[in-house]
Amino acid sequence: MKIGLIGLGIMGKPMAKNMLKAGYDLTVYDLNAAAVEEIVAAGAKGAKSPREIGETCDVILTMLPNSPHVKAAVLGEGGVIETVRAGTVLIDMSSINPIASQEIAAALAERGVKMLDAPVSGGEPKAIDGTLSFMVGGDQEVFDTYKPLLETMGASVVRCGEVGAGNTTKLANQVVVALNIAAVSEALMLAKKAGVDPQLVFEAIRGGLAGSTVMDAKAPMMISGNFKPGFKIDLHIKDLQNAIDTAHSVGAPLPMTASVMEILQNLHADGCGQEDHSAMARYYQKLTGT
Ligand code: NAD
Repeated sequence: MKIGLIGLGIMGKPMAKNMLKAGYDLTVYDLNAAAVEEIVAAGAKGAKSPREIGETCDVILTMLPNSPHVKAAVLGEGGVIETVRAGTVLIDMSSINPIASQEIAAALAERGVKMLDAPVSGGEPKAIDGTLSFMVGGDQEVFDTYKPLLETMGASVVRCGEVGAGNTTKLANQVVVALNIAAVSEALMLAKKAGVDPQLVFEAIRGGLAGSTVMDAKAPMMISGNFKPGFKIDLHIKDLQNAIDTAHSVGAPLPMTASVMEILQNLHADGCGQEDHSAMARYYQKLTGT
């Protein structure tokens, strides 16, 4: 089985390395030639375009920023669709709008290609360890066939429904993460402004009900002021925008998400879009002068 992977960013690179470690025959492509060279040095073949991946691979994975990037690589000029054979499967691991997943799946179905949407949670550390959580949408049979491939990159691989259900689940995940980071930022900066060391607050409360995976991962970054991504503010704005668009289309209220979106957009306007989302603490630092 020949695997193709398009998208070698913070997540795609370690995921590629885990597939190579598991012995898969992997061909990779990214707009960034340096990223392709790095993964070729680790044992993959390099492709010159998504079209070439479509021509040579039996299973095609994508790990790209958002819906327009996936549409460009799969359906655009020089894209996978120009060469892909009937019977090929495309697994999109990017976090994109669920409606876009369904549109891409419909276009591929006309060429006899089945698709899973399979976004992940866990960030760069779990991508490196191969312990990501996959949330998947698509046919049960296709899911069963390719679950072992996803398990080379993830510790949890759960089918949530038909195509689009993976990304709907991911939006729910991103709402929880964004609101949790905002809550940790708000709480630590309150303590700091009131004269209590945030490091001691973190140590005192992390084992109680307030503790969370988000707190353990992000509070140390907020305390040290090291906001190297990780997961970029601009990517989280993209996810919350997709959540808000989905909420409008189905009629669900998202008042808390709208508030946190304002914090993230404020940070983007301040030039922090490429920093880790834990830089939400900067918003509070700016307002409190801490
Ligand atoms: P990234 O910005 O680090 O990498 C994206 C890569 O895609 C870049 O290397 C870029 O050159 C490439 N690219 C863009 N358009 C392309 C195209 N048309 N053809 C080929 N390559 C193209 O992003 P990332 O952090 O790796 O995230 C990828 C996806 O995974 C996003 O949807 C993100 O929301 C999701 N995600 C990220 C994290 C995280 O912690 N970084 C965690 C979970 C999910």
